[in-house]
Amino acid sequence: MDHETAVSRAKEIADCILAPAARQNDKDARFSSEAVAALGPAGLLGIMLPTEVGGSALGPRSFAAVVTTLAEADASAAMVYLMHMCATATIAAARPGATVAQTLKDISAGRHLSTLAFSEAGSRSHFWAPISRAQRNGVNVRLTAKKSWVTSAGHAQSYVVSALAPDGTGPTDSTLYILASSTPGLSVAGPWDGLGMRANASAPMILEDCEVEPGLRLTDDGAGFKAMLETVLPLFNLGTSAVALGLCRAAVAGTAVHLNSARFEHLGQTLGESLPTLRAQLATMQIDTDGLAARIADLVDHLERPRETTMLRALESKAAAGDVAIAVTSTAMRVCGGAAFSKHMAIERLFRDAHAGAVMAPTGDVLREFIGKAVLGIPLF
Ligand SMILES: Cc1cc2nc3c(=O)[nH]c(=O)nc-3n(C[C@H](O)[C@H](O)[C@H](O)COP(=O)(O)OP(=O)(O)OC[C@H]3O[C@@H](n4cnc5c(N)ncnc54)[C@H](O)[C@@H]3O)c2cc1C
Repeated sequence: MDHETAVSRAKEIADCILAPAARQNDKDARFSSEAVAALGPAGLLGIMLPTEVGGSALGPRSFAAVVTTLAEADASAAMVYLMHMCATATIAAARPGATVAQTLKDISAGRHLSTLAFSEAGSRSHFWAPISRAQRNGVNVRLTAKKSWVTSAGHAQSYVVSALAPDGTGPTDSTLYILASSTPGLSVAGPWDGLGMRANASAPMILEDCEVEPGLRLTDDGAGFKAMLETVLPLFNLGTSAVALGLCRAAVAGTAVHLNSARFEHLGQTLGESLPTLRAQLATMQIDTDGLAARIADLVDHLERPRETTMLRALESKAAAGDVAIAVTSTAMRVCGGAAFSKHMAIERLFRDAHAGAVMAPTGDVLREFIGKAVLGIPLF
């Protein structure tokens, strides 16, 4: 599959499956199994995997375009896809002894959804410092952990899980494992009823004495942190930026439709014809949205041709995208007035969904900490 095919398949799924159901799924906080059932056969679950395991070997450019296209219709489904892609990249980068070949083939064949289970109740948004520690049990390890948020909880076929290495000495000496959903001791610990992203089942999960064989260890002991930073973070930050862009584009489009259709009958004009102030606010939304698109294109370019500034751009992109998404959707709420406030339009869902990006780790505040330190030459950890 090439780039254009991937994006056009994503567009078809967005138009035919996601958009018609987004409102009701949001209302009911219902996970869109239909979205996953469509993404699999379309070949989109394995687009970045190598062709040897059945993937399409596409790069960050295609990933970002697919995520943005999905997010324009339903940011929850785009987030499910994004977490799957981050987990998949981690599985694909597994150490040589890990037994993941069949999982990668299943992902490429569209039969397997994965996700990340990093955040823990004890260390909150500091996902790089798990509280849980793997305990040796012969050649296996046992994992017991309280994972505070796991997108696609109860719906994924596997979970990429972090824990401190059995003999790790520092707070970031973690190891990553892959656990099948059928692993005894692994369970969803509660419902998901968020302000936004309500259709992505980001529920807490419990691991209780989960027995893990050596082949399911994805990284060397203590090398989980490196994989989080080098494999997950750039892709996650690009993907969350792409979700933000999709939300902004949907907000601009929805606002334009409203300004072109809602009328002041007594003046014989649409809102957009009548009020320059609304046109100016729409213009600001458009400027910010295109600015974010340019920022994402720049990050894609950095990821395609890595250089000294690549990590800085990845940090900046997510920090900026979270703020832009909140600003653009907030303006849309105001411009569309009572019609948006009273939930007659999709704008209020976009506004709620837009608030997730800045609190998802690394949060906007933490990113600013990292960026400030990086600019000053201070070590991040
Ligand atoms: C919709 C959604 C889906 C999610 N999906 C997943 C998932 O699939 N897998 C997963 O592992 N996690 C997931 N998370 C968890 C997410 O990545 C964060 O861990 C979580 O949102 C942090 O919330 P908290 O209340 O624990 O934050 P806290 O750590 O309590 O942060 C509270 C506030 O303090 C600020 N803060 C914290 N540390 C610093 C610092 N060093 N400097 C400055 N400010 C700081 C934060 O920015 C925030 O404003 C998800 C979260 C959401 C909202």
